[in-house]
Amino acid sequence: MKAVLYSGYGATPVLAEVPAPACPADGVVIMVGATGVCRSDWHAWKGHDPVALPHVGGHEFAGVVAAAGPAVTRWRPGDRVTAPFACGCGQCEFCLAGDAQVCPRQTQPGFTGPGSFAELVAVHAADANLVTLPAGVSLVTAACLGCRFATAFRAVTGHGRVRPGDWLAVHGCGGVGLSAVMIGAALGARVVAVDVSAAALERARELGAEAVVTADATGGATAAGQAGNGASAGVAAAVAEITGGGAHVSVDALGSPAIAAESLRCLRRRGRHVQVGLLPGGPVPLPMDLVIARELEVYGSHGMAARDYPAMMRMVADGTLRPALLTGDVIGLEGVPQALAAMDSPAASTAGMTVVKLTGREDRGGGQP
Ligand SMILES: [Zn+2]
Ligand SMILES: [Zn+2]
Repeated sequence: MKAVLYSGYGATPVLAEVPAPACPADGVVIMVGATGVCRSDWHAWKGHDPVALPHVGGHEFAGVVAAAGPAVTRWRPGDRVTAPFACGCGQCEFCLAGDAQVCPRQTQPGFTGPGSFAELVAVHAADANLVTLPAGVSLVTAACLGCRFATAFRAVTGHGRVRPGDWLAVHGCGGVGLSAVMIGAALGARVVAVDVSAAALERARELGAEAVVTADATGGATAAGQAGNGASAGVAAAVAEITGGGAHVSVDALGSPAIAAESLRCLRRRGRHVQVGLLPGGPVPLPMDLVIARELEVYGSHGMAARDYPAMMRMVADGTLRPALLTGDVIGLEGVPQALAAMDSPAASTAGMTVVKLTGREDRGGGQP
């Protein structure tokens, strides 16, 4: 089969002929129909996350089951499916409780094994990890769901538990943040988006943000409010003013010590902070005095297990959520090396996700592009 692989960290990836993956006894081999290009793939390629070399990246995919192992009971060839980026073992106490996203023995195609920048990809523990694609959800759309969109969905719904009328603050309007804005607005939350970039905030408004706060690089705010004016001492103060006392739910979608702290500070009493952006630098000081005094809840969010996908899929299928609006360029498998290299310079956060559509893969899902 064809796959994009690299033989060393930072070495130019090449489209090459490689052996097809073996089908795990409890898993499936999927004919990849579409797969997203994510910054996590770039991190692995650069050696920030260790992978076995040579390596095939790609972890946000959708396709059709080509083969199923003898222990698989729920899936068979021809099924249109996707899977979360973190696949559980299907057998531990966390997987049995439906929380495969924190399975200690999780596998991640594209990181712990060969990924989906290929014509075929293997998924372990298929009964626990595959998700059916409803008719009307195309493979390209589904390929956008497995990483940032599902992570945002779980942050806003599972951890944040936003209700109609709640204020949701979203800090950082890149891929995850804009997904959270769209999801929060679709659920009836009033969204205040925070970013340093005017273009990102404009995009957030288009996707449903009611108010925006322009942050400066030091965590302060230079402008705030629906009218885009009103100087303020900081992001938290600006959010408190807009929301009449603080957000009910706040998401750090970027990942920085300053933003995580500001996200906690912008909450109203009994509010919920959800940390989605990664903090690779180690322990981070947080205002735990406020956590006590205001009885705040603090959550970490690590993707979303297959169990929780159906609610999101229904909202995608009926058009309540439109992840296709977050899609950028659609390229072929041969375009992956260039797409990865392009991430050497930080992309405009409004650019949308590049999606690889494999040629010759008929999509009977139809519907959205
Ligand atoms: Zn497990
Ligand atoms: Zn990803």
